Amino acid sequence: MNFLPEIAALDADMRGWRHHIHAHPETAFEERETSAFVADKLRAFGLEVHTGIAGTGVVGVLRNGTGSDAVGLRADLDALHIHEKSGVAHASRHEGKMHACGHDGHTTMLLGAARAMAQRRNFDGTAYFIFQPAEENEGGAREMVKAGLFERFPMKAVYGMHNWPELPLGRIALREGPLMGAFDIFEIVATGRGAHAAMPHLGRDPMLFAAHVINALQTIVARNIHPLEAGVVSVTQVHGGDTWNVIPQEVVLRGTVRSFEPAVQDLIEKRIGEIVQGLASTFDMTATLRYERRYPATVNTREETRHALAAATALVGAGNVDTDPVPSMGSEDFAFMLQAKPGCYIWLGGGRGPDTPNLHNPHYDFNDEALAIGASYWVTLAEAQLPVRTSVRAAA
Ligand SMILES: [Zn+2]
Ligand SMILES: [Zn+2]
Repeated sequence: MNFLPEIAALDADMRGWRHHIHAHPETAFEERETSAFVADKLRAFGLEVHTGIAGTGVVGVLRNGTGSDAVGLRADLDALHIHEKSGVAHASRHEGKMHACGHDGHTTMLLGAARAMAQRRNFDGTAYFIFQPAEENEGGAREMVKAGLFERFPMKAVYGMHNWPELPLGRIALREGPLMGAFDIFEIVATGRGAHAAMPHLGRDPMLFAAHVINALQTIVARNIHPLEAGVVSVTQVHGGDTWNVIPQEVVLRGTVRSFEPAVQDLIEKRIGEIVQGLASTFDMTATLRYERRYPATVNTREETRHALAAATALVGAGNVDTDPVPSMGSEDFAFMLQAKPGCYIWLGGGRGPDTPNLHNPHYDFNDEALAIGASYWVTLAEAQLPVRTSVRAAA
């Protein structure tokens, strides 16, 4: 492991910051204390600090030399609505909220990188340290892009990372193309005709319709999608009926769709609509479909994946970099930044063995041993993307 000396010297401080953030989790767009903590630290490190971007977003700006190149490094600030059961000394002090996705670690690693780069001054150009709100569910990255992130802070590429407990500590995984899935939701409302359950011939049963829809939706991936393409259709809620002997008037189904390729996403949405309307007609009732695209797929661009791979390899060695991980159908709102800019998103190993709780588990706690690895990766990557020109160095 090739830790940078400035990062190794910061390790104890980073653990302290991480524990402080972990103990004070804040959820989507309410990350006020966390945002203030980050802004204070960045100012103390000597960065120019911009706050209040998409609510609680913060951007730290670090310039060096005369170069006009710029890169962005991104972390997320938010926690989840989970009651923590980790039992650690720095467990959540905010009832019902918890850093169960390790964003406390992400924020800390990016702060560590800012501190080290400000000390080292070993780059030419501008590094933007982006701390976004509301990664979980609410699309804070999309809001930052809408708020003019890339116009206010022009950059050639943007990079992201997520701690990954399934991957052992000391390993990094990345790939060109999709690494995380697109996340859509749907709601189907079926309206039949309520009736006495003993006299079904007098009604139109939306419950029977729902049963057929649930079955038929599973034919989309099995029978419409190319066998080598990936998609998921999951019905996760069925609401209808109040008692034993009444056929209800209405049934509501809800669920989620995951995909990597826009063509697959389009096809699934189209087929859900056709199945719902076709079966509504079969069962003589009305049905409406609301289909909403939440997060796009997280897709790494070629050149930037090469840069991320070079930084990862320099840090942990080629034997510890997985260049062909199976992508996850989980989703990530960094996808919105990758829609606007080239870039690469990686998984940072944090696993402590087979019993490591997974992300979003109430027992989860970011692995502090990964802090120095992640922070060193950021610095290695950013310095390589903003190289000090040797002619300038020689002339100085
Ligand atoms: Zn999460
Ligand atoms: Zn996360």
